[in-house]
Amino acid sequence: MNRNSAFSYACNACGRCCHDKVITISPYDVLRIARAMQITTGEAIARYTIRRGSILKFIDHRGCVALDGVRCGLHRGRPLACRLYPLGIERVGDGDDDRVITLEPAQGSRGVYGGIGTVDDFLASQEVAPHLEANARYRELLPKFRARIYWLTDFDRIEPREFWRVAVREALAESGYDPNPLIDAIFDPDSLGCARDNDARTVAQHLTVLSKLICDEPNPAILASAAVMLAISLGYSPSEVSRP
Ligand code: SF4
Repeated sequence: MNRNSAFSYACNACGRCCHDKVITISPYDVLRIARAMQITTGEAIARYTIRRGSILKFIDHRGCVALDGVRCGLHRGRPLACRLYPLGIERVGDGDDDRVITLEPAQGSRGVYGGIGTVDDFLASQEVAPHLEANARYRELLPKFRARIYWLTDFDRIEPREFWRVAVREALAESGYDPNPLIDAIFDPDSLGCARDNDARTVAQHLTVLSKLICDEPNPAILASAAVMLAISLGYSPSEVSRP
């Protein structure tokens, strides 16, 4: 479907879409959760996420940790994936193209699909634009990661597929992973002293600090797992950073 396709969705607050999911979240999602709940980004990571800040925490049989009865306890700061539901954004190829897709309705959902309005109207009503804009800015870090990794690593001596396989395994590990200060920094701008008064300023300062950390990091393995983690959290495949 495209942005002008007829689409509408009436949420009937049944809470069904907040169960049995794996919801990947971005650095900006963590920031918005923190600001909505008036906690630090570090507290938001601990309270609402798993996998070092990159996945929304769900509890068996209870659903999302933010679910309050059948309502979202984070509504104002809910992540992009929750705003998009029952739509999703699918990346097309390796470029900047994406397309909007319709997701399978959650089992037992009482949401009602319709055609009153367009996809664009729905996206505007869910206020997804700041999320998409911030994610596009965080994506600008990926070439910086890639350049630094390829500068530091002699891939004539180190087998690239094994190097990236380890990086992906580290990025996807839910426990037992190695400490990685760059991954910590990606999801926790408050710990880096970034501005807290305005989301746009936080993102701008966060990107500046992360760029410096990437340039200063001498360990390609730390860079690679952080790069893969950032790519996945923004909805991209690890190949976004691993391709030569
Ligand atoms: S953040 Fe809110 S909308 Fe998203 S899954 Fe959790 S309770 Fe549901």
